[in-house]
Amino acid sequence: MSKFWSPVVSTLKPYVAGEQPKIGNLVKLNTNENPYGPSPKALAAIAAEAGDRLRLYPDPASTKLRTAIARRHGVGIEEVFVGNGSDEVLAHAFQALLKHDKPLLYPDITYSFYPVYSLLYGIEAVGVPLDENFRVRLADYDRPCSAIILPNPNAPTGIGLPLADIEALVATHPDQVVVIDEAYVDFGGETAIPLVKSYPNLLVIHTLSKSRSLAGLRVGFAIGQRPLIEALERVKDSFNSYPLDRLAEAGATAAIEDGEWFERTRRQVIASRDRITGGLRQRGFDVLPSQANFVFARHPDRDGAGLAQALRERSILVRHFAKPRISDFLRISIGTEAECDRLIEAIDEIVRA
Ligand code: PMP
Repeated sequence: MSKFWSPVVSTLKPYVAGEQPKIGNLVKLNTNENPYGPSPKALAAIAAEAGDRLRLYPDPASTKLRTAIARRHGVGIEEVFVGNGSDEVLAHAFQALLKHDKPLLYPDITYSFYPVYSLLYGIEAVGVPLDENFRVRLADYDRPCSAIILPNPNAPTGIGLPLADIEALVATHPDQVVVIDEAYVDFGGETAIPLVKSYPNLLVIHTLSKSRSLAGLRVGFAIGQRPLIEALERVKDSFNSYPLDRLAEAGATAAIEDGEWFERTRRQVIASRDRITGGLRQRGFDVLPSQANFVFARHPDRDGAGLAQALRERSILVRHFAKPRISDFLRISIGTEAECDRLIEAIDEIVRA
């Protein structure tokens, strides 16, 4: 606290990002990064852009990148908005589209940035409880609200809803904006982007941090009909005209265009996820069925914090949330095959001890 702060600052509850420690030989499975690295074509495009042109401001509209995204997803370029990570796109969506006279709804267990943005922008939000199996129950969203935001697959559970359910949700809330945050959709979910042409109230948000392995470049995007995108543009141009620098636009464009690398690496992640799910279940863990690049798992006889600590002592970082209902769970990102093996070995050691 300081007398220099604007009053709102002391009321904020900032998001706490997963640790990025500098420990050697670390197995880092705590922030859902992709172990396989970006497309070599993206790296080459970034290197090619790193020259004298950095004197000049980037294209404020990121036209090349939006064109590549529009082409890949079969939408118009005017229906694509890009930002500095999907976190920034989400922040603009909260401010531009989710603040009205009735509450915003999202699951009680979900991406922990949503309550942070709600507080920042003064949005009344209600956490709708997941059911006893940690699933979203659509009927629970039939209540007075101004907007809904859901990750699909949800985080940190990894559980996805089928496209038909998303369509039902969007169709039964024609007067509310429904934002579907598809950060993890490429690891086994079904994207709602094809629904955008039929539903003016649907906004779908993606990131290049996970399936394109570019968390360090900070690029995310939204797809929706023109009025929703225009709202995001108005907020963006009242905040920062150049959210994507030249390197980010060049690298992201090449990454979107490299379908082959994308397919290969996401399949590897999915295969490792299925293997680790099996390995953990064999060792008595309860593992939620994940469609993401992480698993959410608990052991019936171990507390989550203790397990996370024991893994940390073996240089393996996983994410633990000290929150009601999920404090016994660990969220474990899918690493390389060798990293997954090290995790399983460490768990055997801990359980034996
Ligand atoms: N949405 C969800 C559900 C996430 O888990 C994350 C990653 N923390 C993000 C959005 C943000 O990702 P980024 O800002 O790296 O695009």
